[in-house]
Amino acid sequence: MGEETKVRLLDLDRGELKQFVGTLGMPEYRANQIAERLLAGEDIGEITTLSKKDRQTLSEVAVSGIPETVLVRQSKIDETCKYLFKLFDGVLVETVLMKYSYGYSVCVSSQAGCRMGCKFCASSGIPFSRNLTAGEILGQIIAINRSKNIKIGHVVIMGIGEPLDNYDNVIKFLRLATSEEGLNISSRKISLSTCGLVPNIKRLAQENIPVTLSVSLHNPFDYERSEIMPVNKVYPLDELFAACREYVKLTGRRVTFEYALISGVNDTKRHANELAGRLSHLQCHVNIIPVNKVKGTGFERPDRDSIERFSGYLTEKGIPATVRRELGRDISAACGQLRKGVIEDGGEAGTGSES
Ligand code: SF4
Repeated sequence: MGEETKVRLLDLDRGELKQFVGTLGMPEYRANQIAERLLAGEDIGEITTLSKKDRQTLSEVAVSGIPETVLVRQSKIDETCKYLFKLFDGVLVETVLMKYSYGYSVCVSSQAGCRMGCKFCASSGIPFSRNLTAGEILGQIIAINRSKNIKIGHVVIMGIGEPLDNYDNVIKFLRLATSEEGLNISSRKISLSTCGLVPNIKRLAQENIPVTLSVSLHNPFDYERSEIMPVNKVYPLDELFAACREYVKLTGRRVTFEYALISGVNDTKRHANELAGRLSHLQCHVNIIPVNKVKGTGFERPDRDSIERFSGYLTEKGIPATVRRELGRDISAACGQLRKGVIEDGGEAGTGSES
């Protein structure tokens, strides 16, 4: 059996894994032993709680599904570390590990490429290849936990891809990541970032997985937002804010609005005023992200005074707002930048680390 047609064990929840080992003639409890070791980042060959014969049987039809690390970039400024992973079919995805006072947080990718076409985003210039499976998203966390010998406690689904455009796999990932039998990460410590796929925000609100919903807003005017985010032509701001209100009502969680501040584009008082008005009756928080200059987009980072003015104006109007502390500026830590750089430099990244 070719590697690509084998079952990838990380894609299976515990019930499915029990069923699968049953088809190989193994008792159900083997599934628990296998899952425990896979979640610790071990490959099938390393699971010594299984007999050699069982490992052999399993290896003939299955692989762990943990992605291969092809590049690691460690920041010299802080503890941010960026990983480039290769999936079973050669597709490259990237993941960023960040260290905060409260512990480790990881930013995972949910798709290889993205179909949403946001103009400010490095990922939008890369053709969409495919959705990631639940196990491929989970595997990014597991691989980093093992490589650093840590336990990541916070997750943001904010890497390459629009998670709500890969709805079923992302929901399965969330169940695997939050379940006691899985990584047991609290849903309150997971943020899912969306550009605003309204119908799936409403579906997510009903899933009983109350993650933090983080909406990439970036502009409070429909006509301007549509220019940088094509999704706005399909789901304009009134519909988006209505879905956010529903999310708050059903989950009890406040929504975070991401606002990438771009010099001369969306950093004026007019924008701050409109934004404050739009958000005045919504339980929310605004995360201001001074944009990193991305080659080819023409967007520039605002100066410190403009950033503080914008943030101060929102706060004065009673809208909680913070300016995001930037981590890993020296290693292209914004979404899609490492992968884009590697692809533009000629495809294969080569194994190893750059520090
Ligand atoms: S910002 Fe997010 S949704 Fe928009 S193109 Fe980039 S990855 Fe896709």
